[in-house]
Amino acid sequence: MGTDGKNVNYNGQVHTCINGGYQQEYSLEILKEAITKYPLDGIFFNMIGYTTSDYSGIYHGICQCENCKRRFHDSTGFRLPVESDMSDPVFRAYREFQNITTEELFNKIRGFVKSLNPEIIINTYTDAGVDFITTESGSSLRDGYEWNYFATSNLKPTLGSYRDRIPCNLLMYFQAIGYRHIGTSPNIARIWLLENMLHGAPVTFVVIGTLNSYEDRIFLPVMNELFGFHKKMKSFSRMFSLSVI
Ligand SMILES: [Zn+2]
Repeated sequence: MGTDGKNVNYNGQVHTCINGGYQQEYSLEILKEAITKYPLDGIFFNMIGYTTSDYSGIYHGICQCENCKRRFHDSTGFRLPVESDMSDPVFRAYREFQNITTEELFNKIRGFVKSLNPEIIINTYTDAGVDFITTESGSSLRDGYEWNYFATSNLKPTLGSYRDRIPCNLLMYFQAIGYRHIGTSPNIARIWLLENMLHGAPVTFVVIGTLNSYEDRIFLPVMNELFGFHKKMKSFSRMFSLSVI
């Protein structure tokens, strides 16, 4: 929900709130169905936490749903703020509330997933409740991120920091949000995947849809070579299928 009190409906995809029933309860039902019906190796969660902007970058503000109002008031005694202002002690309390509730949800989801199948890898952009801590390396015609050490700089902050969590840097094959069917240059993508291997992270490859239907296929021979090399070296040869929720 936006600060204006209306649901955020992005072309039919409605934003759900971390404190609402969909994420707190129904997501577990979806996960249970997926885990019990399909042989998943891992589960990835995208666009996690308190989302205040949509995929077009439109800012919708602090969620003002009844669940957020109630939980924030119950845990802090304050009224939910409507503006992001770090000079406001109530907003700082809200940031702390965000951290606590986000970690709580991810730990709850982890416990649920592992109770159904302890072998399933959980993978997202936080360090709470995960096995892989995720980052992304991808090209963008707009943002100019194509630099050689993009994967290394993503992996280093996590590398060696945890006994039970490893870095996972995703190769986003498409050119950011605006160009989802155009692939990254094989030359830079090769460098990023090799950096993943160098730092003990899995080799990864993210596309929209399935590989069979993907039109820009210029990187596929390189991917075959690199995934084959990785498997042959047996450093960390587990390829994993991802379910996005
Ligand atoms: Zn809310």
